[in-house]
Amino acid sequence: PGSVFEEEHRGECVPEYSEPRGVDIRVENLNKSFGDLHVLKDICLDIKAGETFSIIGPSGTGKSVLLKHIVKLVKPDSGRIFIDGHDIFAEKPKDAAREYRYSMVFQTSALFNSLTVGENVGLWLREKRICNEGRIRRVIREKLRLVGLEGKEDMMTSELSGGMKKRVAIARSLAMNPDLILYDEPTAELDPVTSDELARVVMNLKEDISLTSVIVSHDLNFAFHLSDRVAMIHDGRIIEVGTPAELKASENPNVKKFIYTTTK
Ligand code: ADP
Ligand code: MG
Repeated sequence: PGSVFEEEHRGECVPEYSEPRGVDIRVENLNKSFGDLHVLKDICLDIKAGETFSIIGPSGTGKSVLLKHIVKLVKPDSGRIFIDGHDIFAEKPKDAAREYRYSMVFQTSALFNSLTVGENVGLWLREKRICNEGRIRRVIREKLRLVGLEGKEDMMTSELSGGMKKRVAIARSLAMNPDLILYDEPTAELDPVTSDELARVVMNLKEDISLTSVIVSHDLNFAFHLSDRVAMIHDGRIIEVGTPAELKASENPNVKKFIYTTTK
């Protein structure tokens, strides 16, 4: 099995596995309730292609729910989301360009401890038969290099520190060549030094690949360090959007209070 496939794509990857292109995201008047709880209230956002954009705010304010809408894990009650101009909840238009690819890095890195680092990163490529084995090994090496783990293919995942696991999880996400990468609380459970290292890894990715990054975090130091722009969500509403410097200078009392109580 698979021989026809291998004949057709000798040494190459399937055509759908093209270079990432960095997509823009537009959220229009998004509303979502769970029972009586109105979690997201008229959310509007414009995230540019290639941008590193963070959504910050206290726990329980709807950050993860917002992220889940962008990857279609949750459907809005009203409002729309466009990715590169396509309404992601509408019928798939026939003439749409190839579907965008996204990848989510979850809070719990969700790696397989019984596999090596390289096996974790290559899992999706092998499962979907994206390329031949030689090419997959080159992709794994390249993605590990991007997160600063060059040559760590054969380490056992169970032996890694929390920060290294997070970087393997990012490399595994990058193996899909995503146009959009989403991180939900990437620094949860990491100490401040490791968080700073992770911020540098995420920032450096921008220089190497065309990628839109959306980060949800209640860790302000992390978000301010690496983001082009930041949106603060409070009680289900976006109350401020701007560069880290603009947020730090905000006159909004809820922004000021959040910054005052959560930064060093
Ligand atoms: P956070 O900003 O901490 O990421 P969440 O987006 O996870 O907050 O949750 C916002 C609110 O929505 C919380 O009160 C949470 O309990 C509630 N919520 C999230 N998902 C569901 C769900 N599937 N069903 C019911 N309530 C939910
Ligand atoms: Mg959350």
